[in-house]
Amino acid sequence: RRWIADTWTPTTASLTGDQAAHLARVLRAEPGQIYDVVSNGFLHRAEILTVSEKEVLFTLHEELQSDAALPLHLLLAVFKFDHMEWAIEKATELGIAKITPILARRTEKHLAQSALKRSERWRRIALEASKQSRRTDIPEIADPTPLKSALESEKSPTRILLSETEQTQTLTAALEGASPATKDRVPHPSQSHREGWEVDRQTALAIGPEGGWTPEEMSLFTTHQWQPVTLGPRILRAETAAIAAIAIAATHLA
Ligand code: SAM
Repeated sequence: RRWIADTWTPTTASLTGDQAAHLARVLRAEPGQIYDVVSNGFLHRAEILTVSEKEVLFTLHEELQSDAALPLHLLLAVFKFDHMEWAIEKATELGIAKITPILARRTEKHLAQSALKRSERWRRIALEASKQSRRTDIPEIADPTPLKSALESEKSPTRILLSETEQTQTLTAALEGASPATKDRVPHPSQSHREGWEVDRQTALAIGPEGGWTPEEMSLFTTHQWQPVTLGPRILRAETAAIAAIAIAATHLA
C-alpha cells in the first residue's frame, strides 16, 4: 500500500486522519519502519520518526519511480453535483491529471452560484479516489472557470470537444491523427509530474452541460481550434460522455 502525505517538507512527510489512525492502531507502526509514501506527488521510501494516532511523521529517503498521471485535462461543464462528484471520482480512478469545472451559459444558475463552494469537496473526492486507486499523485481540481477564460488559457496542443451534434469524426480518429509524438512516451524528468509531461502529448477534452453548448460557445471552441468529435449516435449524459472519453483517450496515451 502507498500512503499519501497530508503535509510535507522537502525532507519529511506527515500522515494524519484515518491514515495515521490506521497505521498506529491497526498496523501498530513503530519508529524505524519503512513505508512507501507519496509526498507532494512523488513516491518515496520513508522511515517513521514518530507515531501517534493523530500523526505519523516520516523522514523521506530515496525517490521511487512513480507512474505519472495521463497527460489529460478535462474541462467539465458544471452539472448536477451528485453526478459531478461521480464523474470526478471515476476520472481520478482512470488517471486524469487535471479537471477544470466550467461555468457554461447553460449551467443551471443555482449550480453555477454554489460551484466555488463545492471545490473543496471535489478536491477531497479526488484525494480519496487517488488513495482508493493507488495513484501516486492527486489530480488538480481547478476553481470553476468561465468557458472563455478556460479556452484562452488552455495550452494542450490536442484540444477535443465532445459533441453530440452530427459530428463525423470519432474521438479515436482524432487521437490517432494527433501529433505522432503521442506514440513515443518519454519518462518524465525530475520535475513535478505535471511539468514533466511531454508537451506534445497533452490533450484537453471538453464536455458540455446537460443543456449542451450554446452556438456562441461552439464558435468560441472553433476560434480556439478545438476539434469536435462524436462518441456515437446516442446522446449520453455528461458524466457518461466524460468517462467514456477518458477511457478511450487513456488507451492512446497510457
Ligand atoms: N443538450 C443536448 C441534447 O439534449 O441534445 C445533450 C447534452 S449531453 C447530455 C452533455 C454533453 O455530453 C455534451 O455537451 C457532450 O459534450 C457530451 N456528449 C453526450 N453525448 C455525446 C456523444 N454521443 N458524442 C460526444 N459527446 C457527447
